[in-house]
Amino acid sequence: MRILIQNGEVVTASDQFTAEVLIDGEKVVAVGQNLGVTNADKVYDATGHLVIPGGIDVHCHLDMPFMGTRSKDDFFTGTRAAISGGTTSIIEFCIPSKGGTIKQALADWDAKSAPKACCDYSFHMAIVDWNEGIRKELDSVFERGITSFKVFTAYKGALMLSDEEIFRLMLEVKARGGLVTAHAVNGDVLTVLADKFGAEGKLTPHYHPLCQPGYAEGEATGRILELGNLAGQPAYIVHMTAKEAVEELVRARARGWESLGEVCTQHLTLDDSLYDLPDFEGAKYVMSPPLRKKADQEALWAALANGTIQVVGTDHCTFDFKGGKDMGRDDFRKIPNGLNGIEERMSMLFSYGVKSGKIPMTKFVEVTATNPAKIFGLYPQKGHISPGADADVVIYNPNKEGVISAKTHNSACDYNVYEGWKILGAPHTVFVRGKVAYENGKFVGEAGNGRFLARAAGKPQLAMV
Ligand SMILES: [Zn+2]
Repeated sequence: MRILIQNGEVVTASDQFTAEVLIDGEKVVAVGQNLGVTNADKVYDATGHLVIPGGIDVHCHLDMPFMGTRSKDDFFTGTRAAISGGTTSIIEFCIPSKGGTIKQALADWDAKSAPKACCDYSFHMAIVDWNEGIRKELDSVFERGITSFKVFTAYKGALMLSDEEIFRLMLEVKARGGLVTAHAVNGDVLTVLADKFGAEGKLTPHYHPLCQPGYAEGEATGRILELGNLAGQPAYIVHMTAKEAVEELVRARARGWESLGEVCTQHLTLDDSLYDLPDFEGAKYVMSPPLRKKADQEALWAALANGTIQVVGTDHCTFDFKGGKDMGRDDFRKIPNGLNGIEERMSMLFSYGVKSGKIPMTKFVEVTATNPAKIFGLYPQKGHISPGADADVVIYNPNKEGVISAKTHNSACDYNVYEGWKILGAPHTVFVRGKVAYENGKFVGEAGNGRFLARAAGKPQLAMV
């Protein structure tokens, strides 16, 4: 099947130009003006539209086991939502159970992803125990094409590793050419403050962000970046939320350390006043690290615009309000952490980043697709539109007006944190490896079409300082 997209404005991480894009089968085979193609099976007229690489969301959790239940979106509804928002690849976190093996975790994650995924996907490997057994399994992780790891400095007694354990992991990962990513908030501070609020009977969602102040995030961020520097190993901070954390990343990069950062849509657009909504509605926004202040949002936007932060992710991890979030009605510490974003990331960033003048269109492509591919070993297969790349292409209507609502979203969750938010700009047609998976407001993809993406080891393919 040869598909020709004509008259669109192709956008890359560095340029924007009018060009034709020729897709043959699963690949882009030509980009240029007047390609002279006469034998296309289908021609799309993209006049007035942008033609951009499919987004890559490197931070999501689908069908994740949690407190005896599972997060609401599985690999079908989650990737359906992703594609409908213009995202065509995701990286999910494979999380071994405490005391369990990586082998078992991979078997579990393979079983729930392969039959259901509608777009391509890969896994980061979370390390929640450090012992000789896990260390010995690391080679098999790289053999699977999983080259990025995740550690937690928070969730003491559950997911948290000590500095010694993180540093040992970094040295092992360095020897194999991978990347260590971290959820960086001081876990001891969080535990003490949560216990203190609990003992004082302060149990409403209002206290959720107060357990993990910006400085507790800044401290752990600086510590992880320092450990990475000591190990000679690139370190990547996931879901940065606080200006104190941004300051640490600025300092690390100024010192020439290989330090990278990610921000999620909600931390750019939502603030902590939402925790005080009546009727327990604040629980909808409980995630960690929490929503912060407007001043933090400004610091994050500036860091995104000037290149201090390289990636926009979502941490998409949904739980219904009824039967999920309300498990913590009497105690915020029991509220399942997480919220939606996999479908809204591109439109929110386009509307409130590009259209509002905070970032240029090339930066939009860079942080939603190109940098994620370059950092996580998917470039040049993914993350840009050029000959030889997978035909993950979005024909994007920059003038389409819409309003986000749980009534119309593609997630299975019973609410949406962006309910009522106006958006300007939305995908018109989304190709997943050359196949139309979304068109004219409708998802037309299929479960099982997504393939596991084995990724290459090696340093991130972008300038890190
Ligand atoms: Zn996460």
